[in-house]
Amino acid sequence: MKLHILGTGHAMTFKNYNTCYVIEENGQFMLVDAGGGNRIITRLGEAEIDIVKIDYAFCTHTHTDHLLGFAWVVRLNYHAFKAGLRETPFTIVGSHECVSAIKTLAKITLGESAYDSVIDKKILFKEVKNGEKMQILGLNFQFFDTYAVDMPQMGFYIEEKDFVFAGDVPLNERYFEKFNNAKYLCLEALCSVNELKKGGLPNKHFPVVKSAETAQKIHAQNLILWHTADRLPNRQEVYLKEAKSVYDGNVIVPNDLDVVEII
Ligand SMILES: [Zn+2]
Repeated sequence: MKLHILGTGHAMTFKNYNTCYVIEENGQFMLVDAGGGNRIITRLGEAEIDIVKIDYAFCTHTHTDHLLGFAWVVRLNYHAFKAGLRETPFTIVGSHECVSAIKTLAKITLGESAYDSVIDKKILFKEVKNGEKMQILGLNFQFFDTYAVDMPQMGFYIEEKDFVFAGDVPLNERYFEKFNNAKYLCLEALCSVNELKKGGLPNKHFPVVKSAETAQKIHAQNLILWHTADRLPNRQEVYLKEAKSVYDGNVIVPNDLDVVEII
């Protein structure tokens, strides 16, 4: 399995795109979140991933830095269907809130008649709930509520890869036992402790050191950190050092367009 990283930034980054990625497994592709705008088109082009190769997408939650790119993903697919370039359906998976938000975006983006020609016919939607399992790309996904403080959000666990993706919020303590010894743990990290503004910790996101402490507590083998700030020129170096100061496992701080091998 490979992760094609399309973006590594939080909502308000200037250089990096918002955190989203494509999972590749056995020549099949799944998009996870779409970032906040039409830079999704640029990033897919730069990653050399044709939209017609992606059969699935997942939306974690309806914050704009994860959601708005879906307007363009839907539009790309609409044009691919119209031009006869795409034959397989495109399925978007997410909570009821995500599905209805993406349908609203699709209606605005495509207009009524184009919307009616593809939505729920060629562009399909699958609502999932906390704990629900689904096979995607031949892998067993289990979706879980992240218990985000401000709005419903879902992450997922891929059984075969022992891969935990916790969306853009800290891993809730109620999952520490379930994901103990996970091979891969993907967590958000807002920034280094030194970059934090006066007033201490934000309530929604953790700085690098706190996310790394979570990885240490659950004995994760590999920690992927993203959804970060991008102001420091040596971001990777600083974040790696901070994470390694409290965590013994392997730390990966990807850049946009990196490809991460999941073995
Ligand atoms: Zn976010």
